[in-house]
Amino acid sequence: MNVLVVGGAGYIGSHMVRLLERSGHRVAILDNLSTGFAAAVRAGKFYQGEMEDGELVDSILVEHSIEAVMHFAACALVGESVADPAKYYRNNVVATLALLESMRKRNVKKLVFSSTCATYGIPQTVPISEREPQAPVNPYGFTKLVVERALADYAAAYGFGYAALRYFNAAGASPEGDIGEDHDPESHLIPLVLQVALGQRPHITIFGDDWPTPDRTCVRDYIHVDDLGAAHLAALERLGPGTEIRLNLGTGRGYSVREVIDVCRAVTGREIPEVIGPRRPGDPPELVADAREAERVLGWKPKYQTLRPIVETAWNWHQHHPHGYDKSH
Ligand code: UDP
Repeated sequence: MNVLVVGGAGYIGSHMVRLLERSGHRVAILDNLSTGFAAAVRAGKFYQGEMEDGELVDSILVEHSIEAVMHFAACALVGESVADPAKYYRNNVVATLALLESMRKRNVKKLVFSSTCATYGIPQTVPISEREPQAPVNPYGFTKLVVERALADYAAAYGFGYAALRYFNAAGASPEGDIGEDHDPESHLIPLVLQVALGQRPHITIFGDDWPTPDRTCVRDYIHVDDLGAAHLAALERLGPGTEIRLNLGTGRGYSVREVIDVCRAVTGREIPEVIGPRRPGDPPELVADAREAERVLGWKPKYQTLRPIVETAWNWHQHHPHGYDKSH
């Protein structure tokens, strides 16, 4: 298939591009490089630009005879979305709707969309199934939910076939070690802990040890970035006119912040000092996927079932790229 990957220079998008290429698809990439890196794009034809640039998107859709779009381009930090919601509504909603309109004009009606477990807010039931009510507690979650609703309406009215894939915590790196996670500033737990292991930070701060969880730190479901990619491929193959796929992507197993730090100690063999800090606003105590529906619908199961091999791939990347991607060009 001819696939346009929007946000293909970012963390998850760059792994997706490689997987698409290896699976025999032809790929074009559009990324504004606001958080992505040209060096992360290892295949396909790269365009730097904005997804709301209708002329540019139109020319890419035509030139590459695009049949499907995968959309990873979004702002995805809960705290930032609370502080600057305008940025989130502009990037995640307005720009995405512009992308959908460009697709509609050219009759490109297959979309795999990066959604999030943040659309559930504070879940009533954990593990979280797709039947859990979607009630976001921050602007980030709302922006993703708005697009999910738009996609349902586009499916009904225009015959769009879409998959809204609700990620839990993306983690790890390509086993080759040449692409991985690089954010500036970094805010995610595993890369921060590994930066402590590398001696780049004095300690990791645990955001609260008074949560209603077994060891009183927050629990998350960490899913390897290539497993996310494999689920996208499976979803892509199932899209036809009017198809609606809405699935949680996680392993079904949760790890507390303390458990994550302990796994990182075991993998790196380094001392990783920790300090206890206050809770981070907007953090739900426990987010773990009920992963059964994705397996049933997609025939997909994460290859990385436990955290240790996921952290091993991340550590491989961080050791070989202690300062992330080369930013000199
Ligand atoms: N966390 C932490 N210290 C940090 C960064 C994160 O204790 O320096 C916790 C955070 O509260 C959450 C978990 O680690 O419970 C994962 O956070 P991350 O930002 O990686 O992903 P999120 O869950 O926000 O998508």
